[in-house]
Amino acid sequence: MAHPRYVESVIDVHCHWDRTMLPGCIRDLDAAGIDIGVHLWDAALPPAPYETQSAWDEFAPRVARCVVPDLSTIGQDGWAEALRRSVLRAAERGAVGIKVWKNLGLHIRDTGGKRVTVDDPRLAVLWGVAAEAGLPVAIHVGDHPDFWGPFDETNPRYEELVNHPDFHFGTDEFPALSEIHESLERMIAANPVTNFIAVHFGCFLSPGALRHMFQTYPNFHVDTAATVADMGKAESVEDVRNLFIDFPDRILFGSDLIRTDWWLMPEHMPLPDYFAEHWRFFETNDKNMPLPLPQSGDWTLTGLDLPESVLPLFYRDNALRLFKFSPTVRRMLETDS
Ligand SMILES: [Zn+2]
Repeated sequence: MAHPRYVESVIDVHCHWDRTMLPGCIRDLDAAGIDIGVHLWDAALPPAPYETQSAWDEFAPRVARCVVPDLSTIGQDGWAEALRRSVLRAAERGAVGIKVWKNLGLHIRDTGGKRVTVDDPRLAVLWGVAAEAGLPVAIHVGDHPDFWGPFDETNPRYEELVNHPDFHFGTDEFPALSEIHESLERMIAANPVTNFIAVHFGCFLSPGALRHMFQTYPNFHVDTAATVADMGKAESVEDVRNLFIDFPDRILFGSDLIRTDWWLMPEHMPLPDYFAEHWRFFETNDKNMPLPLPQSGDWTLTGLDLPESVLPLFYRDNALRLFKFSPTVRRMLETDS
């Protein structure tokens, strides 16, 4: 569907299809108005080895996929070398990036039963092989701050927590979100030659914290998956817009399109309408826009009205620079603009 202003191609760097929904992926991309979708992961744990997931490759070049290392075996004999080899093999077979999920820092424990932190030095092998293979790391650690809040009606995401109680981390069982963010920063600082894309707008950092990260770490990037509701709050929209203007090569378009047999995002809304809301949010200064589902809250969105010069970088070119797309993808997108 038409964008308010942008006319070129779009890469969505944050999509998920599982095997049951995979046959519909091209239809989904067409309905959404997406040229290339980066399939991060099918949301299964433990993640399946890359080579067993070749069904996704039938939908190349429209769908490009990432390798998802199984970090739950950390500390076992031969773990590091096996991980390194599996990433290199995946890169050879066409993986465009690496996906790391929030179980790192929250759930994963080593063989000694100790929780593995995001900056655990044993993970240096992963960040190192990412750089070696030329793959960016799309990393989701921590989660929305509301998920550390009280589990009751006072929580703006209460309804979502009722549907997904496992999203709640506001107990002694889990580290504070600030601890996870500090650990993420130490890890990014310690691995300057690896490109990181902290998904969900920097793993839900505040605009002020994001500015610090962009200024300090040239290898730090973010996507916009499932964070439109926060970005468009009247009180933060100006700060967010300035981040796009001051750091135009660090922010990538991602939607968090989820199509699995147990989780749909969006759920009760046609894809063309859902994505039209996104285009309107990024490209206009409209006010009083509805929150994209499933986020709930009593505020409305103000559009970011991104400058003309930022839009191609945000929607396509930053992704083309960072991900290891095939020559076919590159040719496809070059010829249409
Ligand atoms: Zn996601």
